[in-house]
Amino acid sequence: MSTTRPTNSRAVHLASRPDGAPTEDNFRIEEISLPELSDGQILVANDVMSVDPYMRGRMNDVKSYVPPFQIDQPLDGGAVGTVIESRSEEIPVGSHVVHQLGWREHAVLDADGAHIIDTDIAPASAYLSVLGMTGLTAYAGLTRAAEMKAGDAVFVSGAAGAVGSMVGQLARLLGASRVIGSAGTDAKVTRLRDLGFDAAFNYHDGPVTELLGQAAPDGIDIYYDNVGGDHLEAAIDHLNNDGRVAMCGAISQYNSVEPPCAPRNLALTIGKRLTLRGFVIAKYAEEVRPEFQQRMAKWLSADEIHWDETFRDGLDAAAKAFIDMLNGANTGKMLVRL
Ligand code: NDP
Repeated sequence: MSTTRPTNSRAVHLASRPDGAPTEDNFRIEEISLPELSDGQILVANDVMSVDPYMRGRMNDVKSYVPPFQIDQPLDGGAVGTVIESRSEEIPVGSHVVHQLGWREHAVLDADGAHIIDTDIAPASAYLSVLGMTGLTAYAGLTRAAEMKAGDAVFVSGAAGAVGSMVGQLARLLGASRVIGSAGTDAKVTRLRDLGFDAAFNYHDGPVTELLGQAAPDGIDIYYDNVGGDHLEAAIDHLNNDGRVAMCGAISQYNSVEPPCAPRNLALTIGKRLTLRGFVIAKYAEEVRPEFQQRMAKWLSADEIHWDETFRDGLDAAAKAFIDMLNGANTGKMLVRL
């Protein structure tokens, strides 16, 4: 099959490292050339790319569980696209794939860095949210890091976001006695009630510990932490004995240049026999993925899970989409259509 094969494309580069909150000046769009394919490689026209909070950490020049982005080099991250040229027998032209070379309109990569996705199960973008790292993080965090069991009362922060909205719905499906979520706007709180949360609050409405106390009069057994800081402190206040915390993220601190001033009540973990467990999804991914995919496919076909997506359009909008996501502009997963 003959296709029009571009020789050049565009990618977002890191122009400079942010000091505090990133601005659009930290990003720059550059023209890139698309080399001839070697054996085993594919050329993908990216359709949708993901912007994720962990990318903020990669903009700093610090050692972490993922290496930092390099100045004057393209950023990368999750993307889905269509294969328009292939020198791989496993991934023919026309396949829809998910891979890790986002932040660009086209990507040349080894076929073993891409996975074919089934767009009959769900639209391609779902492989960047409910069926992708987001859904897997929610499921593994609940079932492995927090060791959730039926009857637990579960509180999740960042609850209207990509991971958080999955956590709340999965907790319900896994038999939680009560599901509580916090989010940053009243519209998001309303959405959480629509999604089946028993209680939800806007964390701007007062001290988080007071709001959580009203939402969880019998305490909580699990806190799924996406935020850190005063949310974590509030959860420690209200966790019941033998409670567990899945420490997934600390987004309230990602742009901070000062050390956090909460939690100040860590000593409570002793008497309450609490477990606080940090995790990165890579630790659980291989073990948990088959079980997750099987259960999630069933829940999706039974219409028991809903996922929201907030779209921006075009590579030129990608940096702003990322910045806006860090500031709460998204409900569900923030994605960029290319
Ligand atoms: P989201 O879709 O939840 O988007 C980020 C959200 O964070 C915003 O929409 C905003 O919502 C909220 N937020 C921003 N600043 C604050 C603040 N100061 N206090 C409270 N909320 C804030 O992102 P993801 O679902 O992709 O990620 C959620 C968390 O999970 C992040 O911390 C991320 O780093 C972590 N993560 C961890 C993984 C792991 O392997 N451990 C893997 C994937 C994600 P609002 O309007 O409610 O403020």
